[in-house]
Amino acid sequence: MELKNKSALITGSTSGIGQGIAFALAAQGVNIMLNGFGDAEEIEKQRRAMETEYGVTVLYSNADMTKPEEIRAMCEVAVAEFGGVDILVNNAGIQHVSPIDEFPEDKWNAIIDISLNSNFHTLKALVPSMKAKGWGRIINTSSVHGLVASPYKSAYNSAKHGVIGLTKTVALELGEFGITCNAICPGSVNTPLMHKQLPGLAKTYNMTEEEAIKNVLLKAHAIKQQVSISDIADLVVFLCGDSAKLITGSSLTIDGGWTAQ
Ligand code: NAD
Repeated sequence: MELKNKSALITGSTSGIGQGIAFALAAQGVNIMLNGFGDAEEIEKQRRAMETEYGVTVLYSNADMTKPEEIRAMCEVAVAEFGGVDILVNNAGIQHVSPIDEFPEDKWNAIIDISLNSNFHTLKALVPSMKAKGWGRIINTSSVHGLVASPYKSAYNSAKHGVIGLTKTVALELGEFGITCNAICPGSVNTPLMHKQLPGLAKTYNMTEEEAIKNVLLKAHAIKQQVSISDIADLVVFLCGDSAKLITGSSLTIDGGWTAQ
């Protein structure tokens, strides 16, 4: 199945994994709705570079994934501009590392909103246009923390486990409409989100940031390397293709062997 002229909405695509997925899909000829925060000039540069390099239409929305009305408005624009959204990648996410009895309530709520509740809102808004076309691909960025837990990441583990339950449910509901829904579960990836948690991890485990990467983040990887953004983007492109038409409801790990134990 050619992806050329299809359209994708990717939440959290101004940085890290989402940005890599956006570029990889644009390279296949897919029109893109970017979303996320960051420096306005940098985002505009990214948007234009994608349009110029791949000859696709690239839109941008700064919708906040904690705000359902903004999510709905972003989805409405994408459907109107592209004539429907064929590929939805729920990817926006944040992290906070803290013992459960000190976990700040605002961080708990933000993580659940951004990583789990926003997926519900994008799905509700975009599934009708996929049903109408009889084709769709939904990819939810979960994590190894959707399958196993690590201490001090209670909100993140809860949201990412929830994403896998949502993925399975949606896969069952939408199979008859030619729509697949899968979760991807990366291990440790070298992105700004990973860097932001290093000071907290170093403090919690009383070690340097280098030690935290080696002894905490990569501890469970059988292959002691961080996952690359481009490897994840390639997996997403594969899941959008015809060979993946019967892969649905799955949680695909890309984790250096983390969850093999
Ligand atoms: P990142 O910090 O590089 O990117 C996160 C993106 O989400 C950014 O574009 C940011 O602007 C956006 N975002 C954050 N809050 C938002 C909000 N309220 N509304 C809209 N957008 C918002 O992080 P990343 O590492 O690329 O993470 C992407 C996804 O991958 C997340 O869901 C994360 O949980 C998951 N993940 C990351 C790793 C890792 O090791 N980095 C591992 C497994 C899963």
